[in-house]
Amino acid sequence: MSPPVDHAVRYLQRHQRLYGDQLILDQPITPDKPLQAFEEADDQAASLSAFKEEIRECRKCTLEAARTRFVFGVGSPAADMVFVGEAPGYEEDRRGEPFVGKAGKLLDRILAAIQLSRREVYICNILKCRPPNNRDPLAAEVNQCLPYLKEQLRIIQPKLIVALGRVAAKTLLGVEESLKNMRQQVYNYEGVELRVTYHTAALLRNPALKAPAWEDFQAIRDRYRELTGLPPVKSPGTPKPAGESTNS
Ligand code: URA
Repeated sequence: MSPPVDHAVRYLQRHQRLYGDQLILDQPITPDKPLQAFEEADDQAASLSAFKEEIRECRKCTLEAARTRFVFGVGSPAADMVFVGEAPGYEEDRRGEPFVGKAGKLLDRILAAIQLSRREVYICNILKCRPPNNRDPLAAEVNQCLPYLKEQLRIIQPKLIVALGRVAAKTLLGVEESLKNMRQQVYNYEGVELRVTYHTAALLRNPALKAPAWEDFQAIRDRYRELTGLPPVKSPGTPKPAGESTNS
């Protein structure tokens, strides 16, 4: 779908969630707010795509030598919520898209359970290239790559950032607290609200974390809906991510 069509679809989906199947137009079509929002979103899409072209051949650190693909980010250039992971893994490096391996599939299921999809949010990483054997990012790599993420955030202007895991949280916040403590707090990252939760890879390694993570994601959903003017979800009966049992 071309970006304007994509944004029109997103707008109508949001409208449908708010008002059901009835199309309510309480203002003239031109000039009106939704169209202005589309235009802004188009500018964001153009800026983000130009920025990607500018940096996709990056050779600022040694990770470029082993990379298959530069993994810029995926989702809506005008997203209200941005998820930040650590770095591409094997699948992501191969396909050039973040969170497409097992951890990514779990993220997709969690997003679906909070009535979102990867097309509606934006997903990216601290590092744009895969570290060998998925080791933790080195300080020198983060120093070179972090300005790219900051520029993505400047263009997208989200209302909420979600750091997935300790590496993303500690890099963005510059704190050394445990993830358990960080997920209880609401932070501010350069003027944008930031929340922390477990990385989906950690949930796959340790299923006991799935219950607290699901609490986090429900809180993230509620805050996202509040910040974007969507009605709150009625609490009982919210389905858990597909395939998740109550104890895992
Ligand atoms: N883990 C990450 O942190 N990012 C990805 O893109 C995939 C797995």
